[in-house]
Amino acid sequence: MKRTKIKALLTSTAFGEEVVVKGWVRTKRENKEIAFIALNDGSIITNIQIVVDVANFNETILKQITTGAAISVTGKLIASGGKGQSVEIQATEIEVYGLADPEKYPLQPKEHSLEFLREIAHLRPRTNTFSAILRIRNTMAFGIHKFFNERGFVYLHTPILTASDCEGAGEMFRVTTLDPIKPPLTDVGTVNYKEDFFGRQANLTVSGQLEGELGAMALSEIYTFGPTFRAENSNTARHLAEFWMVEPEIAFADLEDNMNLAEDFLKYLIHEALENCQEDLAFLDQRFTKEESKKKQEDRSEWGLIEKLKIVLENNFERLTYTEAVKILVDSKPNKKGQFKYPISWGTDLQSEHERYLVEKHFKKPVILTNYPREIKSFYMKLDEDGKTVRAMDVLFPGIGEIIGGSQREEDLDKLVMRMKEVGLKEEDLWWYLDTRKFGTCPHSGFGLGFERLILFITGMGNIRDVIPFPRTPQNCEF
Ligand code: ATP
Ligand code: MN
Repeated sequence: MKRTKIKALLTSTAFGEEVVVKGWVRTKRENKEIAFIALNDGSIITNIQIVVDVANFNETILKQITTGAAISVTGKLIASGGKGQSVEIQATEIEVYGLADPEKYPLQPKEHSLEFLREIAHLRPRTNTFSAILRIRNTMAFGIHKFFNERGFVYLHTPILTASDCEGAGEMFRVTTLDPIKPPLTDVGTVNYKEDFFGRQANLTVSGQLEGELGAMALSEIYTFGPTFRAENSNTARHLAEFWMVEPEIAFADLEDNMNLAEDFLKYLIHEALENCQEDLAFLDQRFTKEESKKKQEDRSEWGLIEKLKIVLENNFERLTYTEAVKILVDSKPNKKGQFKYPISWGTDLQSEHERYLVEKHFKKPVILTNYPREIKSFYMKLDEDGKTVRAMDVLFPGIGEIIGGSQREEDLDKLVMRMKEVGLKEEDLWWYLDTRKFGTCPHSGFGLGFERLILFITGMGNIRDVIPFPRTPQNCEF
């Protein structure tokens, strides 16, 4: 007989019919006459209850049914008398596929700390919290493709292996097939990358943007969605060494078009989550409230999780320049009382504490900051008329800080070359990128959304290591 997923059974009214469910045992309670098994197959956060008439079952099989075991149950679907569930299954036959020795199985039916669960990341998808996060992650990934597809964007696959080290070489992971103990050397004693696989130094990509621009200059509107890598040794709750990035690039578009796209995009995804992930969000909302209540009053979120999602959905994002934001921050109470860890003045990059003050305390809604000083932004951002600032935009979210970074690109060849010189980039290394400015250049814009930052926001989790199945961070590449 064909197996039915628990998600479908929980809303079924085919009472009396025989069904087959397969999944992993969450808990078993029993007395002399009757046993109750809570079974979960990952299709939904809710378990289905299996009712077992002990007298009709083989004692050995019943003993094998412990937390974590994989089983198949054949039985009759019946309306449930129990509180909080609509249906249950009266078992007629149970097959045990895989045992889970209760002495050794690390996931017990009690609350485990997130730190402990990171050590058993291979098993944590079997918990309520992580299965909810992974289902939401899936819905968001699908939503991203849906959003762009509905708008005629082309999904462009940009390379993961690159030879351009244009965005801060220190943060890149080198890719090589050279012998690590005895690499070939040049006459002056440095490693001879001419003998390496690509005949030159290669790295894992930190962003698909430059290639994304090449695509936009032919297809008008593209997006990339793939893994990116940064060897930043920062060890924060918002940085991973391997993360997923979504990068749209749009031709014939200025910064305002770019901001509109970013705002529409984020709202669309939040709406998708609220529509399609109700059970998981309800669970995470409760979890969020519980976690917040453990924090000090001044560190607590102003809003509940679902409330926060709705606030973002229902409000226009506040748009202001970096210069205006710095003024607000300089005049702010925490600055005057010396409560910011990092000092603030025009020209310095904003720290997460500053971003969160603007979003959570001052405006109480998402903020888009624009026109940053050129010195703290990338070479490809379009210079403003005053020559001091560039047409950059950062989207700042409650609880997160920067969730999107983007800009209008410099389409003027001479200005772009001048900016490259300033930051020490060689024209010949990026000849193909500069060609787009030589042949049919046009105004264009784009941004990058850190996929895991979005998932952090939607799920209300506090650490980015908990919203990707197998996190990679400094000193951590297990699983
Ligand atoms: P931050 O200042 O937070 O380090 P950034 O300025 O380095 O971010 P960008 O280079 O603009 O970020 O990348 C675009 C987006 O990618 C960011 O807005 C953020 O959402 C995400 N992002 C950047 N670095 C990481 C990382 N190490 N792990 C996860 N997401 C990241
Ligand atoms: Mn960074």
